[in-house]
Amino acid sequence: MELPRRILIGSTVIVGLGNFIQQLDHNFSRVAIISGEIVKERTQVISQKSMKDADLSEYKWFVAADATIIEAERLARALKRYSPDVIVGQGGGRSVDLAKMTAYSLGKSFISVPTSASHDGISSPFVSMKGSDKPYSIKAKTPIGVLADVELMSKAPHRLMISGCGDLVGKITAVKDWELARDEVHEYYGTYAANLAYLSAKIILDEGQNLVNDDLYGLRTVVEALISAGVASCIAGSSRPCSGSEHLFSHAVEYVAGKNSGLHGERVGIGTIMMAKLHGLDWEKIVETLALFGAPTRGKQINLTENEVVQSLVLASSLRPERFTILNREKLDKNKAASLAKSVKVI
Ligand SMILES: [Zn+2]
Repeated sequence: MELPRRILIGSTVIVGLGNFIQQLDHNFSRVAIISGEIVKERTQVISQKSMKDADLSEYKWFVAADATIIEAERLARALKRYSPDVIVGQGGGRSVDLAKMTAYSLGKSFISVPTSASHDGISSPFVSMKGSDKPYSIKAKTPIGVLADVELMSKAPHRLMISGCGDLVGKITAVKDWELARDEVHEYYGTYAANLAYLSAKIILDEGQNLVNDDLYGLRTVVEALISAGVASCIAGSSRPCSGSEHLFSHAVEYVAGKNSGLHGERVGIGTIMMAKLHGLDWEKIVETLALFGAPTRGKQINLTENEVVQSLVLASSLRPERFTILNREKLDKNKAASLAKSVKVI
């Protein structure tokens, strides 16, 4: 197991970024930071001061574009010349994923500094890259540290946190799919990892109203749950506890409908409703919870036509043949897919 060895969550903890890096390893002296342009504008001054305070004199900022394989390769070439001891990814999903991928290809340590609570990749070794030959997350580098500044994260658009809740709710069907794979194809099943992932979804279902009422309390709880889910993946050594048929649906939607089809967690949330129905779970509770957060529960809310929802459902199981899920048992054709989506009012 590779696990993050230090996780710091709190308000304005970004001012201690330099110390955080030092405490992880006193031998770190050259630091590379990867972020997007907007995050750089927001955090550069404060990050640089924290480096100075911690006597980390050598650091360089690299501005990243989209999370594509080509961009990851460009960054890897640029960072190789600089030769950092450690790579810090600051941002939402994109820059954290690019930093994770770059650290992996250069064999360097990686620190995750998420600026939004939009998905569980903030603490897991998995990245989602456009232009890879696989339409799902691939394994890269586990962060040695995660620094989550909830004050900074609260400035991100609220929609991102709602998307994070969708990603978390998805662990309910992901874990059910894993149980099914254990029972039907004798796949290795890790009870601890499965329970940890499940717990991160359960807290969202149980705490629903409290999370909506109070921004920082809610945000902190969501961040902790996302980090726990990522750690569950680290323990399992695969994305299994966190990614099942609901994620296959999300990946299929990206393939079928392209860019303008909602955020990762929004697609996952909608997928979870339908997969929960297939599993015979309380899908109405999932709809209720998502709606409470203001997360989409219908295809058209993320610009999907009825046909695109049906096509995505039919395509989902073929995207990752080795990952056994409820879709392998139910084998949805167009008619079955349409009646499933209609029965839970996704279309
Ligand atoms: Zn996810």
